[in-house]
Amino acid sequence: MNIILLGPPGAGKGTQSAGLVERHGMKQLSTGDMLRAAVKAETPVGLEAKAVMDRGELVSDEIVSSLIDENLAAMPADQGAIFDGYPRTAAQAGDLDRILAKNGRSLDHVIELDVDEDALVERICGRFSCANCGALYHDTANPPSKEGVCDTCGSTEFKRRPDDNEETVRKRMGVYRDETAPILPGYEARGIVTRVDGMAGIDEVADAIDAILT
Ligand code: ADP
Ligand code: ADP
Ligand code: ZN
Repeated sequence: MNIILLGPPGAGKGTQSAGLVERHGMKQLSTGDMLRAAVKAETPVGLEAKAVMDRGELVSDEIVSSLIDENLAAMPADQGAIFDGYPRTAAQAGDLDRILAKNGRSLDHVIELDVDEDALVERICGRFSCANCGALYHDTANPPSKEGVCDTCGSTEFKRRPDDNEETVRKRMGVYRDETAPILPGYEARGIVTRVDGMAGIDEVADAIDAILT
């Protein structure tokens, strides 16, 4: 099973990917996470990507598609892939079709997380994650059950992303509307798109996604 989670920044793609990994043993392929790892490691890709990411613009199609290509090739053939934050442009959508075909895979579902824009700013500005294991939290909607302690690993260190501020979020929402939303009709024509109400609670969204996968 190979699926795309599609939705604007803050829609819940990362949160739902983590649930799918846990419930179904799928692998999350998040270009955002891969790029942040490259920035942290100060690789050539990371050095090139950092300023672009801080501005809320898109990193080049070549860079993100080759990250996906490398990571998918390294996966066991029978493990399902969740594409999180990729593809984001028409060119990337074409690249993904070629990369999947090369690996003997095909796309089963595109799940569109539908959310209203005002909620996104609130979600992104309240987002933080565990500095040790990456578990995702939100100040009000999804705090750790014991304040200051990660539910997953017990760490007390948390971090926030430099691009999670209102100005950059508005910019990223515009990029989503202009560059990413236009790839949906192509998938709709293939009959593989299902829209899920991303404004529901995290567990309800997870149930709706599981219903699509079974
Ligand atoms: P994305 O990967 O699409 O950018 P995230 O999964 O990182 O989005 O979610 C953004 C923020 O919103 C996080 O702080 C997360 O805890 C919170 N969040 C995710 N899903 C929901 C939901 N269904 N309801 C309320 N808050 C949510
Ligand atoms: P979010 O889900 O909150 O929008 P991501 O973690 O997916 O954020 O992406 C963070 C940033 O990384 C994006 O704003 C962009 O600069 C870069 N990025 C991630 N994925 C891609 C992609 N597929 N194409 C181009 N740039 C990307
Ligand atoms: Zn943790």
